[in-house]
This record gives sequence, structure tokens and C-alpha cells, in this order.
Amino acid sequence: MAETASIDERDVLLVVDVQNDFCPGGRLPVTRGNEVVPVINELATRFEHVVLTQDWHPSGHASFASSHPGKMPYETIRVDYGEQILWPDHCVQGTHGAELRSDLRVPHACLLVRKGIHREIDSYSAFRENDHVTPTGLAGYLRERGLERVFLAGLAYDFCVRYSAEDAQRAGFTALVVEDACRAIDVNGSADTTRRALEALGVTSVMAAGIH
Ligand SMILES: [Zn+2]
Repeated sequence: MAETASIDERDVLLVVDVQNDFCPGGRLPVTRGNEVVPVINELATRFEHVVLTQDWHPSGHASFASSHPGKMPYETIRVDYGEQILWPDHCVQGTHGAELRSDLRVPHACLLVRKGIHREIDSYSAFRENDHVTPTGLAGYLRERGLERVFLAGLAYDFCVRYSAEDAQRAGFTALVVEDACRAIDVNGSADTTRRALEALGVTSVMAAGIH
């Protein structure tokens, strides 16, 4: 159930992957992904601390179906760290698709975390890559800044937002997902699976209007 939350200086808003390729017209579009932008722009003004993430792959990245002869996007393969969904090529370093949306207005963001930069490992989470070992450094940054609660918004709800929320919670932070500031890809029921997984971990759902 959605709750309300009052924010203070120990809270951070984590804005996940609001990039051209994840919005309509992009290479891996999330349905109505662009609709998160105005919600996040307004929500971010209430936070002193904002961190952005950016999916940022080298060309030929292992998460691209095109890197695996005979494979199609949305098929899964086994890799060293488990199952990997294969995606259309997206968010290739230096391309227009990898850029943050130009209408995203969060000028006071203090950090930009780029993830998925290693060719052989995908990274949904802003905290750890998909091998569940390689850290991005974000947990250390938040701790050093005295930040304790992580509010998550962005794309996509059922992948990068989900895994970032789970890792935040497991790393000892309190994670809250701002539901109406996210949109899902919803591959094979992944939006429902995500809702249940987050609830099981004790991650709170909030609506942007309930955050003050
Ligand atoms: Zn990616």
C-alpha cells in the first residue's frame, strides 16, 4: 500500500536511467517512459540530495542480442552470473540514445553514476553489477555523505529501479519506490513480480504527492 513520507537531509532521490533510449522513439522504449520526466522534475525540487544514473554500454556489450549470433532481443541466455535477458542495442556510450532526456531538469544533482560500462557484465542496479559482486561505489558515496533513505524514480520499474531498490535495502539503506515516477517494461509479467519482490524485502511504495 502506498504511504506518505516526510523528507529531511538524510534522504536522497535516486533518478534511474531517464535516457532517450528508454523513452518512446528510443532503442529500448519503455511504454510512456517519457511521462516520468515532469513528475521527477517537480519531485526533485523537494530533495536536497539527488543522484542520477545513466546506462552506459560500450558497443558490442554482452547484454545486446546482436552480440550473440542467432539470438533475438528478449531471449535469455546463461552467463557466468546466471540468466541474462538479451536486449536490443541501447545506451551505447556517446550516442544520442544514451543521453539523459533533455527535458530532465535536475540541475542540483550531485552525482552521476554510469553503469553497464564493462563489456562482459550487465548492470541493472545502481549499486552492484549483475554479477552481484562488482560495486559501482554508490553505497560508499551515500554512506560518506550521511544519507540513509533512498527514494527511487525512473526507468524501468521492473529492472533497474527494482534491482537498485533491492540492493539499497540489502546494503542497509531504507529504499522507497516512488511508483508514479516510474514506468515498467513488463516482460513476461515482470512488473507484478517486481511488486511482490519489493514488498517481500520491505521496500515501501510511495506516490510523489505523498512526499513532503
Ligand atoms: Zn543496459
